[in-house]
Amino acid sequence: MRRPYNNSCGVERLLSEKGKNDASGGLVAFPAGEFSGWLSSTEASLEFGTGGADVPCGACRGCCRSSMFIQIKPEETQALNRIPRELLFEAPGLPEGHLLMGYTDQGNCPMLVDNECSIYEDRPQTCRDYDCRIYAATGIRVNPRDEAEIAKRVDQWAFDYRDDGSREEHRIVKAAAAFLRDNRDLFPKGWLPGYPVELAALTVTIYRIFAELTAMKGKDEDSIPDAVIAQEIVRALG
Ligand code: SF4
Ligand code: SF4
Repeated sequence: MRRPYNNSCGVERLLSEKGKNDASGGLVAFPAGEFSGWLSSTEASLEFGTGGADVPCGACRGCCRSSMFIQIKPEETQALNRIPRELLFEAPGLPEGHLLMGYTDQGNCPMLVDNECSIYEDRPQTCRDYDCRIYAATGIRVNPRDEAEIAKRVDQWAFDYRDDGSREEHRIVKAAAAFLRDNRDLFPKGWLPGYPVELAALTVTIYRIFAELTAMKGKDEDSIPDAVIAQEIVRALG
């Protein structure tokens, strides 16, 4: 199984695709929204499971074409009624009734027809929750080989900032992600997730703790070793 954290395609299907190469061959930026607003809603989504990211995907279908397994919970009856049973199989390691939908030999979701989601109104919650802006927010890289379309869109996202505090928040989130990525050996074996999207989600969950600890460290450079920061992060998440 790759990762059961997939795909929204957002709700902004009507937006025109603006992310084509510009005249100089460079990539044109896509507005990702105001950073602090995005961060607050993503934190809430991760903490309370509110889900349903409103991603301005435009014409992108990157996450429908990136060889992802899509998790579907037993209570998602509308999605389950629309997806042929032969496309589903039991999700390894999850309770009975939790299913996965695979992908075609081309890496496409089998429900993607003529480049559109054929069950869009009833698509799984996993699809509704997926928001590739989390990579742009954290600086964590997707796999450019398996997820080239997503990687391209991630490179195009450009957040804006309502004030300097918002800009500083983004700096801290990126620093927290880099800390997790670069200090795996300071965490208990297996505690940090392996998949980039899970590491990015964990970053959003812990960045406030990281900010507090590094602010304390900033006042006394040697007072908090990185190993202690890692221990505190683990302890805070229980
Ligand atoms: S890769 Fe990102 S922009 Fe593209 S469809 Fe998926 S969530 Fe939307
Ligand atoms: S179910 Fe629809 S939204 Fe989800 S991956 Fe498949 S085509 Fe995309």
